[in-house]
Amino acid sequence: MSAIPSHFITELAAIVGSSHCTTRREDLHCYSYDGTARPYLPAVVVFPENTGEVSRIMKLASTYGVPVIPRGAGTGMTGGVVPLQGGVVMPLTRMNRIIEIDTDNHIAVVEPGVVTGDLQNAVRHHGFFYPPDPASLKYCTIGGNAAECAGGPSAVKYGVTKDYIMGLEVVLPSGEIITTGARTEKSVTGYDLNRLFIGSEGTLGIITRLILRLLPLPPHKETFLLTSTSLKRATEMVSEILSASIKPCTLEYMDKTTIGVVSGYMEDPPPKGTEALLIVEIDGEKSIVAEQVGRLRALLQDQPEFTVRQAGNTREIDEIWQARRAISPSVLKLRPNKISEDVAVPRSRIPELVAFTETLAKELDLIILTFGHAGDGNIHVNIMLDRSIPEEAEHGIMAKDRLFREAIRLGGTLSGEHGIGFSKAPYMGYELNEATLSVMKQIKSLFDPKNILNPGKIFPPSGV
Ligand SMILES: Cc1cc2nc3c(=O)[nH]c(=O)nc-3n(C[C@H](O)[C@H](O)[C@H](O)COP(=O)(O)OP(=O)(O)OC[C@H]3O[C@@H](n4cnc5c(N)ncnc54)[C@H](O)[C@@H]3O)c2cc1C
Repeated sequence: MSAIPSHFITELAAIVGSSHCTTRREDLHCYSYDGTARPYLPAVVVFPENTGEVSRIMKLASTYGVPVIPRGAGTGMTGGVVPLQGGVVMPLTRMNRIIEIDTDNHIAVVEPGVVTGDLQNAVRHHGFFYPPDPASLKYCTIGGNAAECAGGPSAVKYGVTKDYIMGLEVVLPSGEIITTGARTEKSVTGYDLNRLFIGSEGTLGIITRLILRLLPLPPHKETFLLTSTSLKRATEMVSEILSASIKPCTLEYMDKTTIGVVSGYMEDPPPKGTEALLIVEIDGEKSIVAEQVGRLRALLQDQPEFTVRQAGNTREIDEIWQARRAISPSVLKLRPNKISEDVAVPRSRIPELVAFTETLAKELDLIILTFGHAGDGNIHVNIMLDRSIPEEAEHGIMAKDRLFREAIRLGGTLSGEHGIGFSKAPYMGYELNEATLSVMKQIKSLFDPKNILNPGKIFPPSGV
C-alpha cells in the first residue's frame, strides 16, 4: 500500500471542502468494497462536485503519485472500485445532474453520478427511452455503466451502453480535460476515443460528462413466460426464436435452481417439473408486435416441453421483472458466498455451456446455477459455496477456472458485461495472447504513465 504524505489530505480537502473529504474509519469501510465483497481500505474518500475539482484532484494525485479509484455506486461485480493499493476513492455521486434532454436531437447530456433508472424515468416523461438496463439500474450510475460497458435484457435488440454513448468529457490522470465524440449521429474526426474509454474500468480516465443517444419509446410491448420441462430444449429455443425472424427486446433465461430461488416473487410461480424458463418480450408498433407474437406462438405450437404464459397486465409483468432482478441478491439463500461469472458464448453454444455447468456441479459437488441474457449468449454462472469450508472454497476456484476454459473453447469470452476488475485479471491470458495484452498495456502507459488510476485492475498480476 502506498504511503500518503500528510499534507496531501489537507490539500485534497482544500479542493472539495472538508465536509466532502473523509478519513473516518467507518467511512473508509463503506467505500472499501463492491459486489465482490472483497474489501481493501482506502486512505481517504473524496467527493468532487464538478469537472474542475476532479481535474485538480488528479493533478494533485499525479504530483504525489497517489492512486485514485473512481467510483459510481459500487455495484460492480469484479472489484473495479476496490482500492487494492489504498489511496483515494473518488465517488462521482455528487455529480448527478441531468444537464439536458434535447428532444429535437434525441440526446441527453448527463453527469456520471446520475442513477441509470433515474435517467430512464426522466426521459420517459419526454416520450423517449434509454435502453441499457442492467438489473442494478435502481442503484448503478451512468458513469459506472460507461466504465463497464454495462448491458441488460434489452441488449438482444437494442445493444449495450457503448451503442448509446455519443460523446464524453474525460479527466486524464494528469488532470488534463479532453472531449471525445460529438453530438452528431455521424463523426469521424480522428480516432474513436469514445470506444477506448467505454469499458476501460476507470483505468484510463475519469468520465465527467456524457452525451447519450435516446430512442423514441416503442408504443407497444408484450411479455411472455415460457416454461420448459427440458433444460436442453429451453436453451436450444433461444437460437430457434432468433432464427424464426422474431426480434425480441428481451430473451432471458433461468435454470431450475434459479427459479426455485426467486419463484416466491411470483403470485403464480412456474409449475412443478419446470426445468428452465425463458422471458420473452416483443416491442414496437402494435401491428408488428402482433405479427411477431404470431410467429412465436406458431414456433411453440407443437412443442410439448413448453408452456406459454402471456402476461395480461402490468402487475404480472412487474412480478416477472421483480423476480428476474432479485436473482443476484437472493441466491445467497443457497450458500453464504458465490463466485459470480458472466461469460458469453455464441448463442448456438449455450446448450453446451449450460450442460457443462451441470456436469461441473456434479463433479465438484457444488451448487452452480445459470441464468441471464441468453438472447446475446451472456450466461451468468453463479458458483455457490461456503468459503469457510476449505474443500468447497478450493472447488469453487477450480470450477471458475474450468468455466473460463470452456467458455473460450466454445468461442466465447470471459465477460459479457461485468468487466475484468481484479477478480478476472489472472485469467486474461486465457482469451488474449501476449501481443494483444502488450498493446493494451501500452495504451494504459500512454494515458497513465505513473499508473495512479485504478492500479491493479484488468491486467494479470505481473502488472503494467
Ligand atoms: C444485483 C446486481 C445486478 C447487476 N446486473 C447487471 C446487469 O444486468 N448488467 C450489467 O452490465 N451489470 C450488472 N451488474 C454489475 C454493475 O451494476 C454494473 O457493472 C454497473 O455498470 C456498475 O455501475 P456502478 O455505478 O455501481 O459502478 P462502480 O461499481 O462504482 O464502478 C465500476 C467501475 O467503473 C469505474 N467507474 C465508475 N465511475 C466512473 C467514472 N465516472 N469514470 C471512470 N470510471 C468510473 C470504477 O472505477 C470501476 O472500475 C449488476 C450488479 C448487481 C449488484
